Amino acid sequence: MDYEAFFSSELATLRTEGRYRVFADLERRQGSFPRATHHGAVQKEITVWCSNDYLGMGQNPKVLAAMHDALDRCGAGAGGTRNISGTNHYHVELERELADLHGKESALLFTSGYVSNWAALGTLAASMPNCIVYSDAGNHASMIEGIRHSRAERHIFKHNDVADLERLLKASDPSRPKLIAFESVYSMDGDVGPIREIVELAEAYNAMTYLDEVHAVGMYGPRGGGIAEREGLMSRITVIEGTLGKAYGVVGGYITGSAALCDFVRSFASGFIFTTALPPAVAAGAATSIRHLKVSEMERLRHKDRVAKLRRKLDQAGVPYKANSTHIVPVIVGDAKKCKWISDILLERHGIYIQPINYPTVPRGTERLRITPTPLHSDADMDHLVNALSELWSQCALARAVA
Ligand code: PLP
Repeated sequence: MDYEAFFSSELATLRTEGRYRVFADLERRQGSFPRATHHGAVQKEITVWCSNDYLGMGQNPKVLAAMHDALDRCGAGAGGTRNISGTNHYHVELERELADLHGKESALLFTSGYVSNWAALGTLAASMPNCIVYSDAGNHASMIEGIRHSRAERHIFKHNDVADLERLLKASDPSRPKLIAFESVYSMDGDVGPIREIVELAEAYNAMTYLDEVHAVGMYGPRGGGIAEREGLMSRITVIEGTLGKAYGVVGGYITGSAALCDFVRSFASGFIFTTALPPAVAAGAATSIRHLKVSEMERLRHKDRVAKLRRKLDQAGVPYKANSTHIVPVIVGDAKKCKWISDILLERHGIYIQPINYPTVPRGTERLRITPTPLHSDADMDHLVNALSELWSQCALARAVA
């Protein structure tokens, strides 16, 4: 086989389809979020409109101070896996903070949200004899990979379709262990899972529930515990999983649940056991971010206001977006090449960064710009964005929304 020719031809196909991923070379600038420096043909300041640092906590002074302090006290790395000299007091404190956030007995840290889903789902589903997994069709790649890796029997239920889930549960042997895996906020459409109904079904069919709150932690609920906290459902969910890399602005992932369940995953999951622990400074920053958002409503309130305002401005300009009840504003272009072109022009001519979202992240024909307003985007930023989008909508002859 001509290896190089194979790689090149596969990449050429991506380019032809308009879905070759180009990463913008950006330098985030501390203290001026959401501005960044774009290192392109010309170096210039741009505004980021697609960050998952939803609340700007990645630049919160308290978070940075905690990280600086831990760095000075402990140095750079953790020094090993959690088992081999890598457990640091900052990890222990962060796990306590996370367990408290979700009202659970215990929490277990991972190096990312992806790894937490892959390792926890993979381990749970593989270990329980004869386990059947029921997975929402819209679940994130990390959950899908974890479930696949477990080799457990799996059934995919239609996205957010409780009747379809019940049909599958009903058809299964009542004596077999069951695990229902789903999300609260689905990141590409910004829609919300029917958590209460799924929990009720799980209770009726004696199934465990595994809820990914990655796009909701820090953002919803009185203390930032996510949609399940807002709905008063946390205690009825077996495992709540989240990330420290989005609203909390740092990096890392975790699960929370009973002491026995977390201890079980800690003891059997290779994705936990055989990898170096998060740096102590990262754990310190994440814990500070969580503590702050447990008591501060300011960021969430301002964020809601910004999201609503952007939607109003898009409505006035007739730029269509997918409606939902969350903070994600998916502006559908529906064509990979146009989506990429619009994204390029936004960056080059208007100093606006929104990366195009293409297949396989979303289905073909639903290519989009996924806009995530933050508490730090100003009215002027919004006007600039909406005017630019409106102009490009006309140039691409894309359909307008009817007011
Ligand atoms: N779960 C969902 C639903 C996600 O969208 C993502 C990432 O985008 C993850 C998990 C992975 O989290 P992390 O970025 O912390 O690895």
